[in-house]
Amino acid sequence: MGIGRLVVLTGPSGVGKGTLLQLLLKRHPELRLSISMTTRSPRPGEVNGQHYLFTQRDNFQTLIDQGQFLEWAEFAGNWYGTPRQPVDEWIQQGEWVILEIELHGARQIRESYADAFHIFLLPPSLAELERRVRSRGHDSEEAIARRLKRAEAEIAAADEFDMQVVNDDLDQALAAIEASLFARSPAHAHD
Ligand code: 5GP
Repeated sequence: MGIGRLVVLTGPSGVGKGTLLQLLLKRHPELRLSISMTTRSPRPGEVNGQHYLFTQRDNFQTLIDQGQFLEWAEFAGNWYGTPRQPVDEWIQQGEWVILEIELHGARQIRESYADAFHIFLLPPSLAELERRVRSRGHDSEEAIARRLKRAEAEIAAADEFDMQVVNDDLDQALAAIEASLFARSPAHAHD
């Protein structure tokens, strides 16, 4: 059994974390992705149990009280959290686990997994980030404004992370992440 490793991917809403993650998982199917729980409503095409575990606030609160989240945070009016059990089990089994979470959650992870590897994905510019958020076309003006304000606060904290990657060219960003994740672990480098 190998030694498990926790990888945390953070970056402002709209920077392209999801797309990058899907590519990374496709290229490295041995990586485990933690499915978060959220009180946000599903967007069109989002599947319960695949993109998120969608739930109500009262249930989320009960799970907080029971200590069932590794971390959780409020984001743009909704709650998001990482269920503790699957992550702990995978790590104990020697798996590599990825969390795609926002800044406050990433900070909380340091308390349970001090040696997690933290990656921050940056947009080429704030103007480009706004363009990407708007082009998704599924958020209200108010939600967009909240997400952009939050983005500025998150970007200001980017230097707390082990690695910062600018997502200008997706392939280059992916290559940079792969190089640093798998550099010292040839067993995990497939191609
Ligand atoms: P979205 O609503 O766009 O899917 O996600 C909003 C933000 O919540 C994103 O920055 C995303 O990374 C973050 N997020 C998703 N799941 C979790 C989680 O389990 N914990 C925390 N702290 N943030 C999360």
